[in-house]
Amino acid sequence: MLNILKRPSRTAYDYIIIGSGSAGSTVAGRLSEDKSKNILLIEAGASDRNIFIQMPAGLGIPLMKDRYNWKFFAEKDHITESTEGPYTPRGKVLGGSSSINGMNWVRGNKADYDSWRDCGLSSWSYAHCLPYFKRSENYQQGDSAYRGKSGPTKIIKAEARNPLFQAFIQAANDYGLTLNQDHNGATQIGVHKTQRNVADGIRHSASQAYLYDQPNKPNLEILMETRCTAIEFSGADAVKVHLTRRGENFSVEVAGELVLAAGAIQSPQLLMLAGIGDKNMLADAGISVRQHLPGVGANLQDHPAWCFEYSATNPNDSLASELSYLGRLKIGMEWLLSKRGLGISNHFEVGAFLCLTENQTIPEVQMECIAMRGDFAPEGIQIEPGYQCFTSIQRPSSRGKLWIHSADPTESPKFKFNYLDTDEDKKLAIAAIKATRDIFQQPAWNGRLTSELSGCDTLNSDAEILQWAYAHVESNYHPCGTCRMGSDDQAVTDETGKVHGFNNLRVVDAAIIPSIPTGNLNAITIMIAEKIADSILGLAPLEPEYILRNQN
Ligand SMILES: Cc1cc2nc3c(=O)[nH]c(=O)nc-3n(C[C@H](O)[C@H](O)[C@H](O)COP(=O)(O)OP(=O)(O)OC[C@H]3O[C@@H](n4cnc5c(N)ncnc54)[C@H](O)[C@@H]3O)c2cc1C
Repeated sequence: MLNILKRPSRTAYDYIIIGSGSAGSTVAGRLSEDKSKNILLIEAGASDRNIFIQMPAGLGIPLMKDRYNWKFFAEKDHITESTEGPYTPRGKVLGGSSSINGMNWVRGNKADYDSWRDCGLSSWSYAHCLPYFKRSENYQQGDSAYRGKSGPTKIIKAEARNPLFQAFIQAANDYGLTLNQDHNGATQIGVHKTQRNVADGIRHSASQAYLYDQPNKPNLEILMETRCTAIEFSGADAVKVHLTRRGENFSVEVAGELVLAAGAIQSPQLLMLAGIGDKNMLADAGISVRQHLPGVGANLQDHPAWCFEYSATNPNDSLASELSYLGRLKIGMEWLLSKRGLGISNHFEVGAFLCLTENQTIPEVQMECIAMRGDFAPEGIQIEPGYQCFTSIQRPSSRGKLWIHSADPTESPKFKFNYLDTDEDKKLAIAAIKATRDIFQQPAWNGRLTSELSGCDTLNSDAEILQWAYAHVESNYHPCGTCRMGSDDQAVTDETGKVHGFNNLRVVDAAIIPSIPTGNLNAITIMIAEKIADSILGLAPLEPEYILRNQN
């Protein structure tokens, strides 16, 4: 039973955490293991106890709802043709984005963390991160040198029985990718059956794993539907947070530390509202400067993605044949009664990591596939027989930015991704599109799919492909980097998430990622929170684990 309240029971807490997402739930779960401390977890969104959040196959439904999704839109950038910039959903619910995400469990590449170390973050090498990845997860199938067997988040591997998934694996083999049994283990490259954070048929979000599944903790109080609107300071100390719940305003005192875990869009916004950010931007927004930290909101990164869509020539091949209205009812009933059947799948059952540039050994592209055409747009869900492959480029060098234009905390911040701003990213996008076409033209498909529906197969020159890339680019929903760790003048926090210039203010979420890793960000954000929770508690970090085998 969680200790969910409408008002805090105390005037002051040792630790106050703003945001209960992948990072916030993890930090709250770990900090509350110290029974001598009082912890308050504050979440703007509502409860996650909804069957469509818990049933993995229901993932498209909460995504459509304003109740669970902040539904941000980026600003248009130089390449965007539509009237709005890329749609950027973010969880507004207990568990944050981990309660509305696709549940693909991907831990990134060894080289990602070693590159963080090489940029001066000596405690963030792969050897330092590995024990925290292992502490966070419970995956029974992998090599225990790499995989955790008893952590809070339970992971299972997809079966990928659908004939179109089998065709993808075969086509990727014929293209030159071998079947990788564990892309979170020794090697990332290859085609794989996906791993997902689902336990006993239920989404294993950060709130499920770190809050509900843990022993009762009277020292952890949770306020939902409560938004932090301002932070009050005395010198270099955060002393109070101002909150609003259903139109009523109140405040609570910070006795120890304040942890911002509001995500890569809203943690920098909270800093900016408190006068911490670039002095010129703050002046334009009418906010007086507390600390000139120009890196707040800079360094915005994401994985630009393209959705390749095909119709199935035999509709029975596609999962869509099982997702008619009656089919969905049957799946829902089976899930409710036995937690079995299609209801326990996140639909993304196969994927791949591949290199495209000569001599490159770290994957540059990720593919994630579903055996239907499903459009989970804000306007509604549409399901058609077919196949979708989401191809995204990894570690792009383009950088975007985030800023605010108003001191009103309820106004969404503005942000711009600047996808494909660099020549390097343009080249990679062209290569990624060609590689996807190649895989879908392999004989293994055996006429099961039509040609690509948006005309991608008929493009000839690189210039044509680049224009298609501009017109069809989407967010892969991995914004990060807006309060990056480091010690240079653009860094926002130190290696433990502590905001430069302040004694007791941290950012702990995807915002502190210095450079975007190779893969989806949920497992990575949880690892970051696991690691910094030890710093907050003053515990010695887990011993680094140096593995001699290569990981790529
Ligand atoms: C639709 C979607 C699909 C995705 N699919 C995958 C996937 O399959 N695999 C994967 O690994 N990653 C996936 N991701 C990405 C991953 O889920 C996120 O990168 C990760 O959850 C970010 O964690 P976070 O803790 O930084 O932020 P979040 O989890 O977004 O948490 C931030 C929390 O802070 C709350 N908050 C914000 N402002 C305030 C405030 N002022 N006061 C109080 N509370 C506030 C928010 O409501 C939210 O609950 C997906 C993301 C989305 C949106």
